[in-house]
Amino acid sequence: MADPAPLPRPAAGPITSQLNRREPDYLAGLNAEQRDAVLTTEGPLLVLAGAGTGKTRVLTTRIAHILNQRIAWGSQILAVTFTNKAAAEMKKRIHELVPALDGLPWMGTFHSISARILRQHAELVDLKPQFTILDTDDQIRVIKQLLEAENIDEKRWPARQFAGMLDAWKNRGLLPKDVPASDSAYYANGKGGKLYYDYQARLKALNAADFGDLLLECIRLFRENPEVLAEYHRKFKYMLVDEYQDSNTAQYLWLRLLAQGKPAPEANICVVGDDDQSIYGWRGAEVDNILRFESDFPGAKVIKLERNYRSTANILKAASTLIAYNEGRLGKTLFTDIAEGGEPLSFTQVYDSEEEARTVGEEIEQYQRQGEPLNSMAILVRASFQMREFEERFITLGINYRVIGGPRFYERKEIRDALAYLRLVAQPADDLAFERIVNVPKRGLGDSTVKMLMETARSMNLPLLDATRLLVETEELKPKQRTTLRALVGQFDDWARRSESLQPYELVEQILEESGYTDMLSADKSAESQGRKENLKELSRAMEEFETLGGFLEHIALVMDRDNADATDAVTIMTLHSAKGLEFNTVFLPGWEDGTFPSQRSMDESGRAGLEEERRLGYVGITRGRKRVRISAAQNRRIHGLWQSAIPSRFVDELPPDAVEVTDRGSAYGGYGYGGGAASRFNKADPFESVYETPGWQRARANQASRKGGGPLTIEGELVARSVDLGSQTSGFARGERVFHLKFGYGEVISIEGNKLTIDFEKAGTKKVLESFIKKG
Ligand code: ATP
Ligand code: MG
Repeated sequence: MADPAPLPRPAAGPITSQLNRREPDYLAGLNAEQRDAVLTTEGPLLVLAGAGTGKTRVLTTRIAHILNQRIAWGSQILAVTFTNKAAAEMKKRIHELVPALDGLPWMGTFHSISARILRQHAELVDLKPQFTILDTDDQIRVIKQLLEAENIDEKRWPARQFAGMLDAWKNRGLLPKDVPASDSAYYANGKGGKLYYDYQARLKALNAADFGDLLLECIRLFRENPEVLAEYHRKFKYMLVDEYQDSNTAQYLWLRLLAQGKPAPEANICVVGDDDQSIYGWRGAEVDNILRFESDFPGAKVIKLERNYRSTANILKAASTLIAYNEGRLGKTLFTDIAEGGEPLSFTQVYDSEEEARTVGEEIEQYQRQGEPLNSMAILVRASFQMREFEERFITLGINYRVIGGPRFYERKEIRDALAYLRLVAQPADDLAFERIVNVPKRGLGDSTVKMLMETARSMNLPLLDATRLLVETEELKPKQRTTLRALVGQFDDWARRSESLQPYELVEQILEESGYTDMLSADKSAESQGRKENLKELSRAMEEFETLGGFLEHIALVMDRDNADATDAVTIMTLHSAKGLEFNTVFLPGWEDGTFPSQRSMDESGRAGLEEERRLGYVGITRGRKRVRISAAQNRRIHGLWQSAIPSRFVDELPPDAVEVTDRGSAYGGYGYGGGAASRFNKADPFESVYETPGWQRARANQASRKGGGPLTIEGELVARSVDLGSQTSGFARGERVFHLKFGYGEVISIEGNKLTIDFEKAGTKKVLESFIKKG
C-alpha cells in the first residue's frame, strides 16, 4: 500500500553548538578517518575504501550522528542500500545508536524508494497509485502478446531476448524516444524500437510498471515536473549511498537529480564504495560512476579508509595480491592488526564435488565442536548449481543450513518440473505432478481443456493421466488437443517402459529432451535460463548415484520434507554476488576450477573485462572472511555420465604462496593425481561405497536391490499400479438407448466398449464419447 508522504517538516538546522559538549559514545571507537567521514556532514563526500574498512559502519554512524545532533529529522534523510535486507540491518543498528528516533529515515534500495515516490505521484506518469510491479514472468507474457500482435515469430526473436534489451535500455536510463535506432534495429527486423513504445503503452493500460520502470519513471517524473523534484529537494537534506560502485546509469541519473537541490559544493551527498568490488557490470553497473564523483560534485571531499577491521593479515594479503592482477583500478592499500598473520588460507584439491561437500561438512562439524556457531560460517558459490551437493550433504549430516537469494535446489522451478515428470512416470496416479506439467512446456492446452480432464477424472474417480488416456480415445476433446494429449500419454507410457531398463539419469535427460523442456529453455536467451539448464544438468548428475527411479524419488521426498527453514543457527549457502557487504568468521569458497570460477560464460562473452569482473568476485569472496578462508577445487566433474578433469582456477595461482596452505585430498583419498584419476574411479567396483550412510541411501539401495531382482517399482513399500484396466468396466447404458450429451445433444447408443460409447447424435453425427458425459435421454 502506498505510504502517504510525510509533508516536509521544517529543517532543524545544524545545531553545531551541541556538537562538542560531550563526545557521543558512537564516535568513540572510530579511527581518525572514519570519524572525519562521520563528522563531515555538509557538502559532497566520497569514501573510497577497500573491503572491511568500515564504509557501511561509517554510513550508519553518520545517520545516527545527524539524528543525535538534531542536524535533521529522520524523514529528511535518504539512505540507499543494495538490498532490502541491508536496509533492515541498518535500521536496526541506527535504533541501537539512537533509541528515540524522530521520524524514520527513508532507507531502502533504489527500487523500493523509487516505488514509494512513484506511488505518491503516479498520475503524473500515467499510472494509478496502486499500480502493480510486474515480475519477470508477467513481463514475458506481455512481450509475447505484443510479438503475436505484430506477427513476429517468437522462435526467431525470443521474448526473453527482448526483455533483456528492455532491461539494458532501462538501466541506461533510456525512454523509448531516447533509444538510438542503431540499438533497436537488429531485433525483429527493425521493430525493436516500436515494440518498446508498444510495451510501455501496454503496461500503462495494465496499470503496471516493471522493475526498470521504477527508476526510469521516477527520473521522468523528476524531469517533467520540476515542482515535484523541488519538493524532494526541500525534503531530503542528507543523502547517503552504500555500494556505490555497483550503481548503473539510471541510478546515477536518479541520484544526480535528487542531489541537485543545492549547488554542487553544498550538496549533502555521501557515497561509499570500493571499485574493486564492482561485480554487477553484467547488469549494467558502471564503475565509472564512482570514479566520476569528484567531477560531478566539484569540491567533493574524498576520504580513504585503509585499516581493515574484519579480516586477518593473511586474508587481506591474499585478497590484495589477487586483485592486484586487475588493470584499470584505483589501487588502495589495506592493513590490519587483527591476529598477526592469523590462520593461513587453505586450498584443497578434492576428487570431485561430492568429496568437496563431504570435506566441507567435516570441517563445519569440527569448527562447531570448537564452539563456532553455524551462523558464523558460509559457503559462497559462483553458480547456484553448486549448492545441491552441499545441501544434500548437510541434510545427511543434520547440519542446519539456509540458502540465501533463491530457493533450495530441489525447490527451484525447473527442478520441480523435472521431478513432476519423473513422479508421473513412476506413479501415474500423481495428479499434482500431472497438473504441473501438462502444459509445461506450452502445448496449447487451455484452461478449459485442463478443466475437462479434471472433471472427467473426478467423475470417474480416476487419476488424471488415466482420465486423459480415456478421453483421447473419444471425441470429447477438440482434435488438436486430442492429438496433443494422445501424444503426451504415449510419451508417458514410453518413458514408463524405458524406466525399467534405463539408468534414472539417462531417463531424465531423455524426458527433458523429448518433452520439449530443453528446447523451451534454449529458446530463452536470458542468463536465468542458462542457470536453469545448469541446474537440470546438476539434477541428472545427482541421479547418477541411483539405480532406480523409485530410489531416487524417495530420496527426494526425504530431502524435501525437511523443515528447518527458520532454524536460528544455520550455515549460510549463497552466491558470491549476494554475499556483498556481509562477513563471516569462516568462509568456504568451493569450485575454484577454471570454467566454473572464473566462469566460462563470462570469459567467453566479455573477454578480459569479464575475467577482471570474476577476479573482483574472488576478492569479494575472500574478504567476506574474518578468521578463515577455505578454498577448494574438484579434480573431476562428471558431466553426462562422463568424467572430465578440471584444472584449478587460474586465481589460485595468483594467491600469495606464503599465505596459503595447500592440501591435495584428491590424491590422498584415492591415489589419483590431478588430471589423471578420472577413469580409474569411475570403474571402481562400488563407486557409492562411501555414501550409503543415511536411511535415505539405505532405502535407495534396498529399493534398488528389489528392482534388480525384477520386482515391481515401489515407493515407500507400496506397489505402484502402472495403469488401470479401463476396458473391463461395464456400462450402465444399453445399445439402442436414447441419451443426451451436453455438447452434442440427443442421440442413440450404437455400440459400447467398456465406458466408451459410440453414439449416433441427431445433429452432431457419430461420435465416440465417455459414459460419464452422457445422461439417459
Ligand atoms: P565491505 O566493503 O565488505 O562492504 P565495509 O567497508 O562496509 O566492508 P563494514 O562492514 O562497515 O566494512 O565493517 C567491517 C567490520 O569491521 C564490521 O564488523 C565493523 O563493525 C568493523 N569495524 C569497522 N570500523 C570499526 C572500528 N573503528 N572499530 C572496530 N570495528 C570496526
Ligand atoms: Mg559495506
